[in-house]
Amino acid sequence: MCAEEKLMKKITLSQQQFLEEAAAIFSKTRSAVALTGAGISVESGIDDFRSPGGLWSKFAPDEYATLSTFRQNPQKAWKLYRALGRGIIGKEPNPAHYVLAQLEKKKMLKGVVTQNIDNLHQDSGSSHVLEIHGDHKHLQCLGCGDLGPLPPQILDDHAVPQCAHCSRPLKPNVVLFGENVRHMDEIQQLIHRCDILMVIGTSAQVYPAAALPEQVKSMGGLIYEFNIEETVLTRAENYEAVGSDYFFQGSASTMLQLFLDALV
Ligand code: ZN
Repeated sequence: MCAEEKLMKKITLSQQQFLEEAAAIFSKTRSAVALTGAGISVESGIDDFRSPGGLWSKFAPDEYATLSTFRQNPQKAWKLYRALGRGIIGKEPNPAHYVLAQLEKKKMLKGVVTQNIDNLHQDSGSSHVLEIHGDHKHLQCLGCGDLGPLPPQILDDHAVPQCAHCSRPLKPNVVLFGENVRHMDEIQQLIHRCDILMVIGTSAQVYPAAALPEQVKSMGGLIYEFNIEETVLTRAENYEAVGSDYFFQGSASTMLQLFLDALV
């Protein structure tokens, strides 16, 4: 194989020369997995927390989004949780979410590993969704372990909701700093058999998502990256170990629809 063939292959709307090749390889897989992040939900109107003006600029995560803040001052922590919930509630999936749900129905996608808490993958019809950081639709009691649906009116309330069973303060069922991420055993099982990892709307720089692309590549798998901007995966100097094999540059909905059309 010559050096040129080992380079990442970029697919844009104006330059699609590698699209058929990427689609042909993908159509033979039965073990692909999608890893998604904030970028896939931006087109649904949910801002990336890290973007300028995003949630983290108003509520410093190390001040508001920690387990110790919730334990010591739940009233303060709930200021963040309410802003978080209001930014998500009522939002609907966009075409990118629906493409992944279709790929799962076609038996071309084993599951979605997401860093998002917005439930939009499930709302679009995906059934095998592993939420690393939990979900915003439930309230969790750290005292007795109770888990129940989040009543939307709580987002307009000013009191900290309390557990009906043990009266302790409730928190959203999202992973705070200081808590363990979730579903790692199931994710490892999926990734262990994964031959193509679709990285969508995330730069995959934060653990545990950051470890997954390298793991897939170390087993001979490929990375299909869907992002607007280049990332560490796109620019990886050690391309064969960690870099993207195909980079679909553009909005997630546009590029995933393009990809789906090329598969059919
Ligand atoms: Zn309780």
